[in-house]
Amino acid sequence: PRSDAPPQETEENLRSPICCIMGHVDTGKTKLLDCIRGTNVQEGEAGGITQRIGATYFPADNIRERTKELKADAKLKVPGLLVVDTPGHESFTNLRSRGSGLCDIAILVVDIMHGLEPQTIESLNLLKMRNTEFIVALNKVDRLYGWKVCRNSPIQKAMKQQSKDVKNEFSMRLTQLYYNNREMGETFSIVPTSAISGEGIPDLLLLLVHWTQNNVLEVKVVEGHGTTIDVVLVNGVLHEGDQIVVCGMQGPIVTTIRALLTQHPMKELRVKGTYLHHKQIKAAQGIKIAAQGLEHAIAGTGLYVVGADDELEDIKEASMEDMKSVLSRIDKS
Ligand code: GDP
Repeated sequence: PRSDAPPQETEENLRSPICCIMGHVDTGKTKLLDCIRGTNVQEGEAGGITQRIGATYFPADNIRERTKELKADAKLKVPGLLVVDTPGHESFTNLRSRGSGLCDIAILVVDIMHGLEPQTIESLNLLKMRNTEFIVALNKVDRLYGWKVCRNSPIQKAMKQQSKDVKNEFSMRLTQLYYNNREMGETFSIVPTSAISGEGIPDLLLLLVHWTQNNVLEVKVVEGHGTTIDVVLVNGVLHEGDQIVVCGMQGPIVTTIRALLTQHPMKELRVKGTYLHHKQIKAAQGIKIAAQGLEHAIAGTGLYVVGADDELEDIKEASMEDMKSVLSRIDKS
């Protein structure tokens, strides 16, 4: 790993925070992302399960636009927000734990009609283990009986429009959550949301950005995952021509970045389309790297950049350490 220039805490230099989205299957993780992004990945997916980690970049302008009704005049200091979408099926525990390890903050999605479910608990444990802050999106509020739709509205405004019965049902379901969750004594930020009609989405975005931009972040390590060439750049800067090392089936793969590609903002890496080429890319970003020899790279392991002062042999060794940790986790599960 290398540090590029000494990190300076200027606004221009803040990297984009990374947020992962977790929760039980069918709570609406994909739909929530779609709602923020204004696309529909969910319906394009076989069986509706996110098969591998996808990543979506939300530029600051987009966040500003979506939160303007909240009149939170605090300046948006980060260049954007990278949201990593984690697979929702139980057999993906391994990948999922990888996902939460990358994150500065998480959204834990809970279906208000179902409350706590097995993977909610599993996610909570992972988040606790890794000391990751999280916001609870209490999703599907539109399913409360008699809910009056207030499209894309801040949640307090939407709540004011609701009948007494709806408000009562809401409080009842919220209280149930507390009872089921005795173990956790802290205060959570719970944002009621609807991924269908968009209530509460402005609040969610604002909370994410406010929290993370007050907690940003040294600039150093590069870590990769996905299949052969999709990586999430967690920290630091990548350049075309950089020498990189990734963990491969038959040993470390040393190669040179031929092209650095991203999708247009707001599209997801998994969605096919045209790519933007970059001379360099700053974290955090979902990136496609084109380089020779990546066919045998192992998904979920780290990607290392060889800096001028780095010993190639040390880095090759470090990259293979990653494989050991991935394999040992597979063995256990
Ligand atoms: P995931 O498995 O957590 O990614 O869940 P999905 O995003 O695939 O959503 C599961 C189902 O719940 C789909 O049928 C969605 O259309 C539906 N759904 C998701 N969010 C909401 C919501 O806020 N309100 C309602 N009524 N349905 C939702």
